[in-house]
Amino acid sequence: MQKINLLGYRLEQLIELFQQMGLQKLDAKRVYPWIHVKRVKDFDVMSDVPLSVRDFCKEHFSLDRGKCVHRQISRDGTQKALLEMADGEKIETVLIPDDDRMTVCVSSQIGCAMGCKFCHTGTQSLVRNLSASEIIGQILFWQDQCDITNIVFMGMGEPLMNFESVESALSLLLSPQAHNYSRHRITISTSGIVNDSFLKLAELGVPLAISLHAPNDQKRNALMPINFRYPLKMLLEAAKEYRRISNTKHITFEYLLLKDVNDSREDAIQLVRLLHGLACKVNLIRYNDWPMSRFARTSEDRVNAFAFELKKRGIMATVRQSKGDDIFAACGQLKTQIIS
Ligand code: SF4
Repeated sequence: MQKINLLGYRLEQLIELFQQMGLQKLDAKRVYPWIHVKRVKDFDVMSDVPLSVRDFCKEHFSLDRGKCVHRQISRDGTQKALLEMADGEKIETVLIPDDDRMTVCVSSQIGCAMGCKFCHTGTQSLVRNLSASEIIGQILFWQDQCDITNIVFMGMGEPLMNFESVESALSLLLSPQAHNYSRHRITISTSGIVNDSFLKLAELGVPLAISLHAPNDQKRNALMPINFRYPLKMLLEAAKEYRRISNTKHITFEYLLLKDVNDSREDAIQLVRLLHGLACKVNLIRYNDWPMSRFARTSEDRVNAFAFELKKRGIMATVRQSKGDDIFAACGQLKTQIIS
């Protein structure tokens, strides 16, 4: 019988589970901080939990972070791990050291149904959603090795298509009685799904990054099929609403520069017009090539020229340092390398 992984249970859920299984509310209250504050991996060390309860927990529950079946370390220190879940499925998670930050990039789904043309995960169809335990497990996997300062939901999958698990994981990460991260240290990235979850996320006040990647609907339709459902006008109106509700300083737009696709001066000028009136920041991203991709990386000169055009017209723009190029650190790439 597969054990129940407790990592994604909020306190009220843990109490309910314990009571359903004949344990006491107090047992759940004792176990909870061991999982999320002391972050132990083993029920045996929970010294204030009665021995009989610890034995019961060992038999029925787990605190598994996933089994690391492959690991790569980039020249720049970025690390990527392939974790095997209890059912044998595999997911990727990445650790990105940068000055005084240790950022973990987590996956929210196995595969992805969004089919973005430039993305390697988009070539793998959706297998299943991850549970909240499997999401928290990725963070604890790295936390066991170093202190994590920031968390980004930018790995495999679309977080808003698995909102139930993402919301539970967020509530554990933000809770002062659990992981106690500041909301400013967490970022959720979306391909632009403007559903009910979008506004629920805004209420949690977590910073949002929208993968934009194009300055008009025609180009975005060609790169991101989700744009047919939620075109730019709808997306940008929702972004304004998100900023208002979440009370975040700005919305971040991710813009992947693809050679001769969306990297011209005209594209930059259109992008400025599109974002007019919205408190935002644009993160320009250099493309990480992957085998069989039909896109190519924009030259350094062109990246700088694009950033210059944005800044000249008053848009806050940064060029994101490319991390982990030598280990295929764009989403979904390690898994495909190992499995294929
Ligand atoms: S970029 Fe994100 S949303 Fe698009 S296919 Fe890849 S994982 Fe899915």
